[in-house]
Amino acid sequence: MRTGIGLVRMKAMILPIWAKKLALVLPLLLIPAAFERGDRLDRILGRGELTVISRNSPTTYYLDKSGPAGFEYALAERLAKQLGVKLAIAPAFSLQELFNLLHRSEVDIAAAGLTLTGDREALFPHTRSYHSQIPQMVYVAGTRRPRSLDDIGDLKLAVLEGSSHADSLRAMRRSLPDLQWQEVEEADSMALLELLDSGQAQLAIIDSHEFKVQQSLYPRLKVAFDLAGEQEMVWYLPPDSDNQRLISQINHLFEAMRASGDLDQLWDAHFGHVSGFSRISSHTFNQKMRNRLPRYQPMIRQVAREYNIDWQLLAAVSYQESHWNPTATSPTGVRGMMMLTLPTAEELGIDNRLDALQSLRGGARYLNNMKLRLPEEVAEPDRTWMALAAYNIGLGHLRDARRLAQQQGGDPNLWSDVMEVLPLLQRSNYYRQTRHGYARGKEAVTYVQNIRHYRSILEWQDIPRHQPSPPIDIIELLPHPVRSVNMSAL
Ligand code: GLU
Repeated sequence: MRTGIGLVRMKAMILPIWAKKLALVLPLLLIPAAFERGDRLDRILGRGELTVISRNSPTTYYLDKSGPAGFEYALAERLAKQLGVKLAIAPAFSLQELFNLLHRSEVDIAAAGLTLTGDREALFPHTRSYHSQIPQMVYVAGTRRPRSLDDIGDLKLAVLEGSSHADSLRAMRRSLPDLQWQEVEEADSMALLELLDSGQAQLAIIDSHEFKVQQSLYPRLKVAFDLAGEQEMVWYLPPDSDNQRLISQINHLFEAMRASGDLDQLWDAHFGHVSGFSRISSHTFNQKMRNRLPRYQPMIRQVAREYNIDWQLLAAVSYQESHWNPTATSPTGVRGMMMLTLPTAEELGIDNRLDALQSLRGGARYLNNMKLRLPEEVAEPDRTWMALAAYNIGLGHLRDARRLAQQQGGDPNLWSDVMEVLPLLQRSNYYRQTRHGYARGKEAVTYVQNIRHYRSILEWQDIPRHQPSPPIDIIELLPHPVRSVNMSAL
């Protein structure tokens, strides 16, 4: 029967020997060539690695105490998992740098909280939108608040260089020829907030979710007005024509995550909450000290004894972490009295983070580990403050800060000097030279200083115990009587 296969066989029989040999090895030669010549998706699968460029910033990608973090990182991680490849993140320290590398095709994707704009769309292929954001004009409360762009007069306005906001301003200058602004070569919009806070600029344009995350660190800054409505956020790809299958994979992932509610959840975990550091008032502390602390104080004292820590310190840390709430959960996945991350809890052998005793023990051990890993030259009490900073942002970032303190002529063994430079880890001209990159240094300082403050209030409470007949009952001096603190249990 003359089937197709038979025909091929017959033809094969009349081929010369060399051609038969070539026919056997040809498919083998073609496999690697297919990966070389295939599209971007083939190349990613072939090398087993997806390369993503992101802005090193708190809203996109950074290293925290448990490793890489940030919304864009989390999203890129999902894609790498879907493709079954490793994820390699390249941090960019300015938007210009990011688009240059993308243009040269040195990365597969740019995932960096980027707005979809006409200019970019003309140059780079992009995915579907995964979220939206609103560009906002931010000003310093108490100064003149402009209501629109034509009302900014000679107020100094700053935006990120190469940003969508710089593009919009250029477009608006056609109708507002007097419009002036400054472009800052940074990747992180926090640099703009720093300019406002230090009085070097009076206005800045920042995307809504980025401002929301940073606002608690800059309580004086407020939104003056929205510059536009919702704008789409997309991932951009290099300007080759071979991205189509990868783009479909990404769009498919975004759609599936949207349908399952996963995308909203991830967004909420990163932007839905506002850090409460600067909002914790001593009023709340006094209240909780009366209502909640007595229940946990014996346990805190027991764990503090086991780990040779003073109980007021452990109480202050657990207040700062969870307000003494053993079932506290944060959308970013930290849980319990000491707000441990899952990997940390696993490392510490904790099976239930919501168990107050386990959580306190885990936190105490973790804190002691940090202390042990600091160099011997760091003496108490600075050793404790630095261990706390490391507890908050990770030892790597603390080491960077100590090195930076030294470079600036400070003493890396003094908390007061390290505290001065920690906020610099948020500024790209500093963190691009450090080993571990961007860190929320300012927040770490607030964290440590809050704990020191709470600890001293607790110590103050404890005074009557050490002074058999105090001349004044110190409790009476407190704004709210602390009747329910059971002093005999101390
Ligand atoms: N979304 C902005 C952009 O696409 C970056 C962030 C900002 O400048 O606030 O350029």
